[in-house]
Amino acid sequence: MTDTPADDLKPSFLSDVTVELVKHSAADSDVLWAARVSTAGEQSLDELKKDPERSKGLINYLMRDRHGSPFEHNSMTFFISAPIFVFREFMRHRVGWSYNEESGRYRELQSVFYVPGPDRKLVQEGRPGKYVFVDGTEAQQELVVRTMEDSYRQAYDAYQEMLAAGVAREVARAVLPVGLFSSMYATCNARSLMHFLGLRTQHELATVPSFPQREIEMVGEKMEAEWAKLMPLTHAAFNANGRVAP
Ligand SMILES: Cc1cc2nc3c(=O)[nH]c(=O)nc-3n(C[C@H](O)[C@H](O)[C@H](O)COP(=O)(O)OP(=O)(O)OC[C@H]3O[C@@H](n4cnc5c(N)ncnc54)[C@H](O)[C@@H]3O)c2cc1C
Repeated sequence: MTDTPADDLKPSFLSDVTVELVKHSAADSDVLWAARVSTAGEQSLDELKKDPERSKGLINYLMRDRHGSPFEHNSMTFFISAPIFVFREFMRHRVGWSYNEESGRYRELQSVFYVPGPDRKLVQEGRPGKYVFVDGTEAQQELVVRTMEDSYRQAYDAYQEMLAAGVAREVARAVLPVGLFSSMYATCNARSLMHFLGLRTQHELATVPSFPQREIEMVGEKMEAEWAKLMPLTHAAFNANGRVAP
């Protein structure tokens, strides 16, 4: 049986994703400490703040020459709320990532669905590997919003009907679409985040362009903004070296 209040059964439609930095232990000094420990031993922590230009240069050198492991000694945990189709792409990133996602078996899934906002380009032109996306017409935008919302309502009604009849959540959820919002904690380090950003964002400084789906890019952009505040020298070196993870 469902125990959801009637108001919560009305679907909500969102055009954006949520990214919150919930926990972190991440600073440029972690990179410097790790890089210098091999030569300076236990005294290396004292050296960090003595020469900022040297520190900046060292981070840039590590990035440029792809000495990657000093960028692993830090941790960032993000809360992310996004459509299931974003999580399917996200969880392909296996190395340097830990995930925990909400369960559709142990709790009733909430009726929150993704509908593209007016800025989301709707039409794909070109051939594989050479796609560009262009704005849709007003008629296409109206069609997308209307058909998605109708379809989501129908699917969620079917889900509720099964729950009300006593069908288990893990069975009933099969009718819900990938536009349903889910949430997860994702923990990474700067190196694994850079690899993710190199593949899942587009940027004028990228020397190896990628062509991510806009919605996972929206998540990536918000994660990058948080990371840049924590590790500004590392972030600047990432950009200066073509946004290729070391
Ligand atoms: C634009 C775009 C389109 C995509 N389209 C598709 C698609 O159509 N279908 C699809 O299935 N996937 C698709 N993917 C997912 C893609 O193939 C990767 O699974 C995803 O980007 C994660 O990258 P990764 O394996 O490098 O990352 P991680 O899993 O985090 O791995 C990081 C690095 O570790 C090394 N590594 C990890 N595992 C292994 C291993 N088993 N063997 C050797 N080295 C390993 C590699 O160097 C790898 O780059 C797409 C990705 C992008 C960005």
